[in-house]
Amino acid sequence: MKVVFLDRDGIINVERGEYTFKIEDLKIVPDLLESALLFYNAGYKFIIISNQGGISKGIYSKKEVLQIDNILRKTFVEKGMEILDSFYCPHYDGIENCLCRKPKSLMLEKALAKYDIQNEDTLFIGDSERDRKAGESLSIKSYLVKANSSILKLSNLLLNE
Ligand SMILES: [Mg+2]
Ligand SMILES: [Zn+2]
Repeated sequence: MKVVFLDRDGIINVERGEYTFKIEDLKIVPDLLESALLFYNAGYKFIIISNQGGISKGIYSKKEVLQIDNILRKTFVEKGMEILDSFYCPHYDGIENCLCRKPKSLMLEKALAKYDIQNEDTLFIGDSERDRKAGESLSIKSYLVKANSSILKLSNLLLNE
């Protein structure tokens, strides 16, 4: 199975510089859906890998994260695509230490195991050094882009390699 792992904030939805957990704050990054469609049509599935430390900090609840997740899934379905799964780390360093918060790789490892995915069939697109480190620690080809920027060029590049 070919999979694109996607960070959420800054890649799928606009990174606002503060936590996005309210529906009215949710905005999709320009060209994201068009870019995803290129991958989807090339046979890739999507899995979200996202740190949501605001849960540990008590700023919002897991329920609110799942509400946003639902909207993102619906948005993909409306474009004829599908988000296969999403993994969220609810922890925050110093409040609850864990093995899943990126740059740690447990969320990726779980996703690979759950769907029996081979590392070499995957890509990870993120906007933070933490994303790249998490991917690279499992030898997943990882690409860093600027938060909230279009990944259309990158997608075309990767698919035409
Ligand atoms: Mg991000
Ligand atoms: Zn965690």
